[in-house]
Amino acid sequence: MTGGASDAVLVINAGSSSIKFALYPAAGRSREPLCHGQISGIGRAPAFVASDADGQGTRDALPGYDKTSSHEDLIAWLLDWIGQHGAGFRLVAAGHRVVHGGREFTAPVRIDGDVLARLGTLAPLAPLHQPHNLAAIEAMARRMPDLPQIACFDTSFHRSQPELAQLYAIPHGLSDEGIVRYGFHGLSYGYIASVLPDLLGKNAMGRVIVAHLGNGASLCAMKACKSVASSMGFTALDGLVMGTRCGSIDPGVILYLMQTRGLSADQVQHMLYNDSGLLGVSGVSNNMQILQASEDPRAARAIDLFCYRAAVETAGLVAALEGLDALVFTAGIGENSALVRQKICARLAWLGLDLDPVANDANAATISMAQSKIAVLVVPTDEESVIADAVRALGPF
Ligand code: ADP
Repeated sequence: MTGGASDAVLVINAGSSSIKFALYPAAGRSREPLCHGQISGIGRAPAFVASDADGQGTRDALPGYDKTSSHEDLIAWLLDWIGQHGAGFRLVAAGHRVVHGGREFTAPVRIDGDVLARLGTLAPLAPLHQPHNLAAIEAMARRMPDLPQIACFDTSFHRSQPELAQLYAIPHGLSDEGIVRYGFHGLSYGYIASVLPDLLGKNAMGRVIVAHLGNGASLCAMKACKSVASSMGFTALDGLVMGTRCGSIDPGVILYLMQTRGLSADQVQHMLYNDSGLLGVSGVSNNMQILQASEDPRAARAIDLFCYRAAVETAGLVAALEGLDALVFTAGIGENSALVRQKICARLAWLGLDLDPVANDANAATISMAQSKIAVLVVPTDEESVIADAVRALGPF
């Protein structure tokens, strides 16, 4: 990891079991990281992997760290590693992925104690993510108190949605208090929106649905590259079937579990966030690759439900858009699973969507036939570069 002395921006995406990072030049608009990597296995057996711009890799089993090591310990280790191996890079700012910005944070913001406290109040709305995002910010602030830190939100991209797309049919006073649909995965959708003009030409200004299908999964309906509706709502629990999250569910089920089965709010929360989705339905795994390789019929049923729900929710968003010009698949499953794309597209064929099976099997950039009324694309997402751009835009530091 060598290079001339240069200012760099550090991007951090801290989740429950991993801390992903990337370093970008502070000047210019390069989307190529100087180096990137992650600490994975937090809470089990932490391990580190990184590679620089030339693809030179580093691996480290992190001796001395184990299942008891905290995010704070591991952030400290990462900053030391960057200090030692990022020879010639001078960190001038850090940008963080923060899942929930509520109604207040509609754009990236420089973090101070007050902002951090207000973001903390949103933690119950994203219990799987927000506490880890904020823990990383606090750990860095303790370690490098003078380093400017910027929060970039997964909710911001969706603030362009019309009121109807954001409202729940609940007493209006509650909506006024902020119990509305927020939408998530906005950094990913922001990236896709930024490359759509190059990929679709004038159709980018039309009606596009982006399917972000990863461990978390959601859909975003865009008109002219702006969000008009999303499958996720008040929390990142709504919408599609996910790795361990249930997606849309009748709220009556939750009432039933609490009133009749005596489950506490914490127990229901844990069940819906951690024990449901692909894992819950299959009883095998939350991981699509493992499910696809499994011969267990419950794995096949989980995949079928995932695809059925994704197609049905896509059709719902077609109504929000009043038509569809292009469908884009992204994130781990969207970019890599030809089977999932095929099953979703098969159920949408009535829209005039004509999938090219050869291109689909090859994970090609365009996977629709030339005559298809709806273009179908596979676009790798890049949330980190969106954060780097946002940090640069708030500088210089
Ligand atoms: P996260 O939401 O954690 O960022 P990712 O976007 O990395 O998740 O997506 C993880 C999912 O992508 C996992 O379910 C994984 O099995 C799936 N995936 C990755 N590669 C493939 C593949 N080749 N075939 C099917 N699924 C894949």
